[in-house]
Amino acid sequence: MNEKRVFNFAAGPSAIPEEVLAEAGAEIMNYRGSGMSVMEMSHRSKAFLSIFEETKDTLRRLMKVPEDFEILFLQGGATLQFAMAPMNFITRTGKADYAITGSFAGKAADEAKKYGDIAIAASSKEKNHTYIPAQSELKIREDASYFYYCANNTIYGTEWQYTPEAPAGVPLVADMSSDILTRYVDWSKYALVFAGAQKNMAPAGVTVVFVNKAYIGSALPYTPVMLDYAAMVKGDSMHNTPPCWSIYMMGLIMKWVEKMGGIEAMDARKRQRSKLLYDVIDASSLYKGCAEKGSRSFMNVTFVTGDPELDKRFIAGAKEVGIENVNGHRSVGGMRASIYNAMSIEGAQALADYMVEFEKRG
Ligand SMILES: *Cc1c(COP(=O)(O)O)cnc(C)c1O
Repeated sequence: MNEKRVFNFAAGPSAIPEEVLAEAGAEIMNYRGSGMSVMEMSHRSKAFLSIFEETKDTLRRLMKVPEDFEILFLQGGATLQFAMAPMNFITRTGKADYAITGSFAGKAADEAKKYGDIAIAASSKEKNHTYIPAQSELKIREDASYFYYCANNTIYGTEWQYTPEAPAGVPLVADMSSDILTRYVDWSKYALVFAGAQKNMAPAGVTVVFVNKAYIGSALPYTPVMLDYAAMVKGDSMHNTPPCWSIYMMGLIMKWVEKMGGIEAMDARKRQRSKLLYDVIDASSLYKGCAEKGSRSFMNVTFVTGDPELDKRFIAGAKEVGIENVNGHRSVGGMRASIYNAMSIEGAQALADYMVEFEKRG
């Protein structure tokens, strides 16, 4: 590792592979003989259009996205999708059902309530979002326009370990901001998958949307054009200026994922990294994992000591040994280690070693 760099466990924006940063750095003044940086190019230029197409193609290949899905690079973050999804899909029946497994899912449901009849299919709130409801606990209406869930709860450190089943004819809509590109998606079940890219795909500024074309074209009448999937598909994400630099960076990161061995390799690495940390937690009498075992996230490992002052010492001590951003979300406190695709096994091992050492030291 570069001497001055740290192991960065930030939840998002988050670590980017060093090789990718070096590549972007080498190309920053003069992108492949164009005489300019990607930041300075027209989004309609040949050079940028080829970056754009290649990024999309690589993503489609990596995630085995079928042709009936369009891949869009939008703005407004995952948070804007909380509104965009209902504005486009609620017109099917006027109703949609949501699983509330954390704060982002709650925000999505609150946004959707402005546009239709929203029911809560399940909620883990009574147990402080420490678990993912089982399939048998999901109450999804047969006439729901869609069933919405957040695949990985970045703040609480829980993750759906199964793809939910909805009644026949009810498609799924999923926020996969923090676990996209770590497993395959069963596309046949979905109307929409989206991800704010700054967790696992790119720097901030681009939101990746996979939309099933069978479901577009019936947005609410007052939907702004920028929030209409059909218009975005028609303009190939270029109805207006797209976030060119973030798309370019995403392209480099997608290539890196492919070179590393694709989704299979990312899946294996996430298991390895998270096991290192959960094993320490399970063997420890100091650390308590926040999530129930069957619901634990592979991406965000949340834990506490039970003493907020000790948590603070843990976080400060980690910084001293080059381990940064292991503090929990400001709304929950404690610790959270976000271990996305770019986090090395070595980084996870360093944190695991520090945890053991900190406990011994007392
Ligand atoms: C970070 C995050 C969001 C919010 O993303 P923005 O791009 O900041 O809007 C939404 N959902 C999940 C699961 C997240 O991790």
